[in-house]
Amino acid sequence: MACTYKSKLKDYLDEKLPKQEMKFMESHIESCNECQKALDELLDKQQEIKGDFPEIDDDILVSKIKGRITGIRRITVYGILGFMLGLFSRFYTLDKFLPTKAMMALPYKLAEFGLSIFFSKNKLLPWRSMEFYYGYGNMGFFPYNPLLDMLASLITPAIVACFIAVMLGYLLSDKRVFRRRKVINFIAVGLLTFIMWSAILYGSYSYTMAKIDSLQGIEEITVYSVAQGSSRWLVKIDKDALSQEKFKELFSKLTEAKKAGKNAYPVEKKGFELVLNFTGGGRMNAFIDPETDSMVLLNGNQYVVSQEAVDILISIAGGETRE
Ligand SMILES: [Zn+2]
Repeated sequence: MACTYKSKLKDYLDEKLPKQEMKFMESHIESCNECQKALDELLDKQQEIKGDFPEIDDDILVSKIKGRITGIRRITVYGILGFMLGLFSRFYTLDKFLPTKAMMALPYKLAEFGLSIFFSKNKLLPWRSMEFYYGYGNMGFFPYNPLLDMLASLITPAIVACFIAVMLGYLLSDKRVFRRRKVINFIAVGLLTFIMWSAILYGSYSYTMAKIDSLQGIEEITVYSVAQGSSRWLVKIDKDALSQEKFKELFSKLTEAKKAGKNAYPVEKKGFELVLNFTGGGRMNAFIDPETDSMVLLNGNQYVVSQEAVDILISIAGGETRE
């Protein structure tokens, strides 16, 4: 249904209505979607006409068009600057100057809070996370995919900072041309963006964890021998090393390991510790006990590996294979 006040918009824009009506229209537009849209269109059109006929002399219209142009420019610049600031916000702890430190910490902390709503369960216990290398300022919500963790800790504060900056841009702009209702719409868009971003993160991480769970897509293995709290680097098996038959076999035997429930990742280890890198950025530590042919992942999944796989590891370490 067409709003009956739409016909008065042109006069409202030119401020030709009586004072009382001007006030009424102001509050009406605030609550009427239809009039708001029509007003935006009207302003766009006027802007175009004005561009074609620069000699048009209408101070009120000119000031409104100017207000609109500066507003759009301000909002764009604020948004870009906010996004950039957000990208660097992970370095807030390095900043010694309190006001800028606080400005940087705000989007970072808000982003961390926002992500914690969905992903706090993913975080490793503090003492467990010591076994991981985290990039500087990484939030640790996606510990088994360091690349994703880095992206989440980088992009999320940037989204938050961009949002805050654009909102400031709106609030500082000409009230006559930027209706306050736009801010509310914008908040909704912001929330939706955040939820969509979280869904992307959730999907990517689930994909990583499914790969790790089924031990599919291993692309590189680093092998350590561990005993009495110390560990010794043995070999890094990458694509090139796979031309060797025993490495190739180790890969395929690990892929075939059978799942066997859950178990705590041991603190006191005697055997082999493997760092498994998966395609797509997944990374997982695995401990293999040569006595029992069992393998435990850092996330607590347990597997039975074949004796051949264990024998290959023993031979890599330079030991005698069992008979
Ligand atoms: Zn209306």
